Amino acid sequence: MHCEITKTPQWRAGPMGPKTLCNACGVRHKSGRLFPEYRPAASPTFCPAVHSNSHKKVLEMRCKDSFESDSAELIPNTNVLALEYNI
Ligand SMILES: [Zn+2]
Repeated sequence: MHCEITKTPQWRAGPMGPKTLCNACGVRHKSGRLFPEYRPAASPTFCPAVHSNSHKKVLEMRCKDSFESDSAELIPNTNVLALEYNI
């Protein structure tokens, strides 16, 4: 239903009731990660500009504004300290 895929190994329960989601969407719905931007690459409605089959990419698409500050936090402060010691 979500991605309009017609072939799936297993139909899963979704917000519309049992067996309304394909296997990939159902797994994500169960773990609370089924976003409108998520779509399996095999889906006939898959569009790379607005859809992704990777949860990480979906998150990036959803919060482009905060993406830069997120990646800045990932830079370990220890590297800065090590550089200062070498001077
Ligand atoms: Zn699906």
